[in-house]
Amino acid sequence: MIRSRFFWKLYAGLTAVVVVSVAVIGVLLARQITQDSITEIEENLRGRAVVLAELARTALEGGDARDLRGRLRDISAAVPERLTVLGADGAVLADTERDPLAMDSHADRTEVQAARERGSGRAVRYSQTLDTRLMYFALAVKRGGEPVGYVRTSMPLTRIDARLAALRRRVLLGGLAAVAVGLGLAFVFARRVTRPLAAMTRAAEALAGGDTDWRVEVASDDEIGTLGRAFQAMTAALRDRMDTITADRNKALAILGSMVEGVVAVDHEERVVQLNAHAAEILATGGEDCLGQRIWEATRRQEVCRVLGAALRSGRDQRAELRIPAGRGDRHVELRASPLRDAAGRTVGAVVLLHDVTEPRRLETMRRDFVANVSHELKTPLTAIHGLVETLLDDEAMAGETRQRFLAKIRSQADRLLALVTDLLSLSRFESREHRLDRRPVSLREPVAESVERHQAEAERKGVALVLDAPPEPVELLADAEALRQVVDNLLQNAIRYTPHGGRVVVRIRREADHAAIAVEDTGIGIEPRHQARLFERFYRVDTARSRALGGTGLGLSIVKHIAEAHGGDVAVESEPGRGSTFRVRLPLA
Ligand code: ADP
Repeated sequence: MIRSRFFWKLYAGLTAVVVVSVAVIGVLLARQITQDSITEIEENLRGRAVVLAELARTALEGGDARDLRGRLRDISAAVPERLTVLGADGAVLADTERDPLAMDSHADRTEVQAARERGSGRAVRYSQTLDTRLMYFALAVKRGGEPVGYVRTSMPLTRIDARLAALRRRVLLGGLAAVAVGLGLAFVFARRVTRPLAAMTRAAEALAGGDTDWRVEVASDDEIGTLGRAFQAMTAALRDRMDTITADRNKALAILGSMVEGVVAVDHEERVVQLNAHAAEILATGGEDCLGQRIWEATRRQEVCRVLGAALRSGRDQRAELRIPAGRGDRHVELRASPLRDAAGRTVGAVVLLHDVTEPRRLETMRRDFVANVSHELKTPLTAIHGLVETLLDDEAMAGETRQRFLAKIRSQADRLLALVTDLLSLSRFESREHRLDRRPVSLREPVAESVERHQAEAERKGVALVLDAPPEPVELLADAEALRQVVDNLLQNAIRYTPHGGRVVVRIRREADHAAIAVEDTGIGIEPRHQARLFERFYRVDTARSRALGGTGLGLSIVKHIAEAHGGDVAVESEPGRGSTFRVRLPLA
């Protein structure tokens, strides 16, 4: 509180009031007392003068002055005042203090002159004779309206001066005591007024700094108390509101943070006021660091700056698309900017929603390509069948042998169609999300051995050695046995298909740390590295004509991949052109 400027101002004001009041009262009091004392002395002198006039009248009207002198001398000891009797000309006839004969004329004395003119007169003067200040009172003694002489009474003011000095000292001391008490009371009063105000000021400052836990205790029931209680209520209301705002803000931030879309909000000066993690990633900005920056400083994505600016200026929604060049294909982001308005409907900012549509676009392209591929794959055998059937119908006289050859070709094309449709059905089965695998505990060896068994004859026909290498202990896992058979079938088909006569295919089963592995190794033609990454795509073939000629559909490996992934596993290839390939499928054990 000692640091409170208001306290010192109030205290200085009160001090001034106390000091000035005491000073004014002191001065007025001293003056009044002085005045009263002088009037009292004057009244005293006048009374004496009246008595002396009667005493001196006879002598002044022509009597014996000596007798008067004698009388005055007699009473001089009993009367504190000095008494003087003057003739009409101002000559001293008698005096209680000095010898009248030794005294000069008193006609020019102020009080005597006044008495001559107005009947009585008063003067205060320093008397060299008595070496002191005196008050003189002169009264004209008249007969028939004409002065016959004057009587004068006087008294030294030494006593009154001493009395007044003592009085002034007392007034001064009293004044000082009053000032001291007044200042003490002023201090207490100023403190009582200032303390709650200082407390409220501190609370208001804390409040402005965001600290709502300050409490103001004001006990008084006056306006300051009312103010304190109102302040307390206001703080509580503010705390509630701030709590609500913080909770709402946290909720909004949590929602923003968990949104799949990127969100950026700017104010009317295009300064970033909000952006979520996804937006920071798309815009390649430094996250929260760019808050407060202009949007064009925060990101180099011109399109985002443009739609935000357009939404701000036009007050209408804006749409655009952002293409971000990325390693594998462009990234596509849809932008939807809307103006933000305040309660009065004024545009105060804008918000843009960044929706990454790369994946839907990619799926759309894939779907289109797939339909085109399927149509093409179906069309080739169907066109061939159609041509063969036409020829058969047109040529009724066709030789039986040729007819047989034609029919054999039709059957081969129909087989191709059947294989294609079968693979397509498998693919759609394992691809569809709804598809539930029939997972049961299986020993991996069984479906693998079955598949190897089924392919023995074909391998022999091609002159390829087919071997199963499985550990003695069973490798158990939770899997769909039928799907596993399909995996091994497809891999074996390829291995036998692409391994020339005299080659060797080994199917290995292994139990590794937390998964089971099926590896199909061949000593075949191998695959060039540039094709390896795309082998598992639908309809991808290294050599289309060769694959078709060998009865391949281009779907075998994508079916393998989907089955492996449906089991939570994966598939990989290692291959060297001319030396052979190894396809490895890993399936989790648990
Ligand atoms: P396809 O029905 O044509 O065999 P896949 O999806 O099974 O289709 O295989 C895709 C392509 O991968 C094949 O066309 C072939 O070029 C290549 N491929 C698959 N397995 C092997 C292998 N063991 N050795 C060499 N190339 C292979």
